[in-house]
Amino acid sequence: MKFYLISLGCAKNLVDSEKITERLQKESYFITDDINEASFIFINTCGFIKEAKQESIDTIFTVLEEKPQHAKILVYGCLAQRYLKELKKLIPEIDLFLPLLPHDELIKEIKRHVTAQRKLRCKLQKRIVFTPPSYTYIKISEGCSNSCSYCAIPVIRGHLKSCPVENIISQIKNALDKGYYEINLIAQDITAYGTDLYGKPSLNVLLKKVLSIKKDFWLRLLYLHPSRISSELVKIIMSDSRIVKYLDIPIQHVNNRILKLMNRFYTKDLLIDKIGMLREKIPSIALRTSLIAGFPTENEEDFQELLDFVRTIKFAHLGVFEYSREEDTKASSLKPLVPTAAKEKRKKIIMKAQKDIVKLNNKTLQGKVFPCIVELPVDEYGCIWTGRIYSQAPEVDGLVYVTGYEKTMGNITNVSIKGFKDYDLTAECIR
Ligand code: SF4
Repeated sequence: MKFYLISLGCAKNLVDSEKITERLQKESYFITDDINEASFIFINTCGFIKEAKQESIDTIFTVLEEKPQHAKILVYGCLAQRYLKELKKLIPEIDLFLPLLPHDELIKEIKRHVTAQRKLRCKLQKRIVFTPPSYTYIKISEGCSNSCSYCAIPVIRGHLKSCPVENIISQIKNALDKGYYEINLIAQDITAYGTDLYGKPSLNVLLKKVLSIKKDFWLRLLYLHPSRISSELVKIIMSDSRIVKYLDIPIQHVNNRILKLMNRFYTKDLLIDKIGMLREKIPSIALRTSLIAGFPTENEEDFQELLDFVRTIKFAHLGVFEYSREEDTKASSLKPLVPTAAKEKRKKIIMKAQKDIVKLNNKTLQGKVFPCIVELPVDEYGCIWTGRIYSQAPEVDGLVYVTGYEKTMGNITNVSIKGFKDYDLTAECIR
């Protein structure tokens, strides 16, 4: 029996979709990229903020329109977890809404609803991974216990549940054996890793174990809570060239009154200290962050403070979310709310400022040489390839368009930056 899978939302959801696909294949359900061949369609939804919820709902209705008549639709993930009762009432055409379940139970539920014709004892297909063959995500924990006042993740995914170190190490070794070169460590907050399992934050312990793997790879750290970035962590990052000198540190805001209302347990001064420490110890470090525009009670002055901070710190990359009022969160009762038009305007202003910063940053990269992970050919002749340098995380930070690349050069090759267009760079391979 064949199924079609749609994975929405964050990289953590993508990892879930990959693991569910692998489990389904073991049960003789095979993935297809042609919806017309599918006996069932599995939609892994996102329910984080308004835009993401809207995208999930739109996708459900699109699939309802486009699915083959006989095919069943199964809806899973954060949106289904959060609004199970409401969704069942609102969209009765859906065959099955599933809450978040341990994968064993999930597979049982799926089998109960879409019985495979017969158990095919054929050769299992290779594990399906939805990222190009150069990078993969390793999710080191599920859920979050930080309880930021605006965030629904703890409501949806529960408290922090860390994966044991051995389990993570074997996943990484598996990925490297399969030829992946870039390992992206992800979680809601990787700096909280192990607090539940080992009684204290244990990211440093995990990193030392990862670095004991005698292979060449890129290790990228995503989603660090600023308050837990320690000098010891910085020492570990500096100790090994395999750790990419890039960190994604969501700060959300800088105004102390707003940070308190967000329950982020740090202040502007702490942010300045941590960023200062990182840049002093690792001058070439590339920092990404994410911000919330229009958090309740944010006034023009607070916003100006945030904008000035962005202009001063000059992050390599940043994303801005408009505040989304999420029921069941502490912040949902905060007033006054910032009007939608003002939220949109503030988001636009910050993104414009960031675009100017990226332009300046890209100018400084011209003529410099960097190792580049080369990924996909752009044209059928292989004249131009896409790749990324250390300061570009997958899917969010733009690409390098590389000329002069030959496959014999391997995954990683040195390139000289020639130019740029918006967030993307152009480069030539060094022979
Ligand atoms: S760190 Fe805060 S924003 Fe991030 S998932 Fe946890 S509660 Fe949500």
